[in-house]
Amino acid sequence: MTRVEVDLDICQGHGVCEMEAPEVFKAHRDHVKLLQTEIDEAAREDVERAVTYCPTAALRLVEE
Ligand code: SF4
Repeated sequence: MTRVEVDLDICQGHGVCEMEAPEVFKAHRDHVKLLQTEIDEAAREDVERAVTYCPTAALRLVEE
């Protein structure tokens, strides 16, 4: 299973992740909310782009 984690201490809520994967991320003021933490194959490419393009590197994928 693949999970996505966000470090809310460094997330600044810019919402790049929401643009890449709106089914998973919802930017809210100064931080992001995760709409789901378990990432299925359908969302995986979008989430990988969000991880890559997050300007503060607040996101990471965890394989379990
Ligand atoms: S792109 Fe990064 S900094 Fe911006 S809201 Fe998403 S997780 Fe936070």
